[in-house]
Amino acid sequence: MAIETPYGGTVGPGGDFRKSGVSRWPDADLGPGDEIILETPGYDDYQLQDDDDDRDVQTLDLSRVHPIGGPVAVRGAEPGDLLVVDLIDIRPLSGIGYSAVLPGMGGPLRSWFPRGFKSVWDCKGGFATSRHVPGVRIPAMPHPGVIGVAPSIDLLERWNAREDPLIAEEKAAPRGAAASTTVLRTLEGETRERVARDAARTVPPRENGGNVDIKNLSTGARVYLPVFVETALFSLGDVHFAEGDGEVTWNAIEMDGATHVRLDLVKGAARTYGIRTPVFEPGPLEPRLTRWLTFTGVNARDDRQGYLDCTWAALDALEQAVEYLMKFGFSGEQAYTIISVAPVEMRISSMVDIPNACVTLAVPRDVFDRDIVPAAS
Ligand code: ZN
Repeated sequence: MAIETPYGGTVGPGGDFRKSGVSRWPDADLGPGDEIILETPGYDDYQLQDDDDDRDVQTLDLSRVHPIGGPVAVRGAEPGDLLVVDLIDIRPLSGIGYSAVLPGMGGPLRSWFPRGFKSVWDCKGGFATSRHVPGVRIPAMPHPGVIGVAPSIDLLERWNAREDPLIAEEKAAPRGAAASTTVLRTLEGETRERVARDAARTVPPRENGGNVDIKNLSTGARVYLPVFVETALFSLGDVHFAEGDGEVTWNAIEMDGATHVRLDLVKGAARTYGIRTPVFEPGPLEPRLTRWLTFTGVNARDDRQGYLDCTWAALDALEQAVEYLMKFGFSGEQAYTIISVAPVEMRISSMVDIPNACVTLAVPRDVFDRDIVPAAS
């Protein structure tokens, strides 16, 4: 069975919704082995426009981020099972993609680019090109940025307890802050207010999946999600046309998309195998990229020394890659965007050689219309 549904879901605490006895929820009720196509807007909820004016980046309403499709109930799913999600096909809807460096929100190098930057991408024929980043052609590797199941009430309370202390330091998104734009559809009044306040924001990945932003969850991938509530309550959205490991600017090539999935169950397997967070078989279809230039980063620079700090090492590689690409005529914003949207491979190469971790960041030379290897000056 395949069903098309319009978007408009928000993942929430499953048990809680079920008690409310709403009638138009969940979006779809499937049996194991059934298929569904979920159509979802880009993460920006159609706020970004196909033009050369970046005012929409300056004023983006972050409370509308992540309109996702679902939830989809899977009959027979119980806590302790694994929900098997086969990503059968992922297609652009409008064919227009966006990538933004949002002012103040643009990833680890946001202080370099306080004004922000918008690029509009034409996604067709298996490639994305942008008039705002000329000289590159990005091959498709589409995937949902957000994919997951509903948490149990217990798990939701644990998230809130461990993330709440970070909110004051702006290290976690405040829950409840977006209550007016939270999409809870059939809920009203006090119930709606309570759920909007207590439900988790979809900013970070967690045990249930969520905003994992993994480029290899592409066509043909099989994802195993631990189930926390009866019927699993599966959702996805925030589809990307392509992304580099790390999604460093906070944006991939973001698009509206249609994601065709098959849902199945492995009964008891999360419990049997002790699986606490999603595992997956990566998609087998990848662009044929044969030439790379790989940057290395360590957790030390000049007179400063860290200790086995993989994040610092990754940042060290990233900064060098961006500065290097600027030598080839790209602006800083363009170079930073390329690292975030091209199928860059970032790896922890070593995390044991005290005191320095080493991270490598491989840039595919094939996406450029000129070669980017070092040449004599
Ligand atoms: Zn996204």
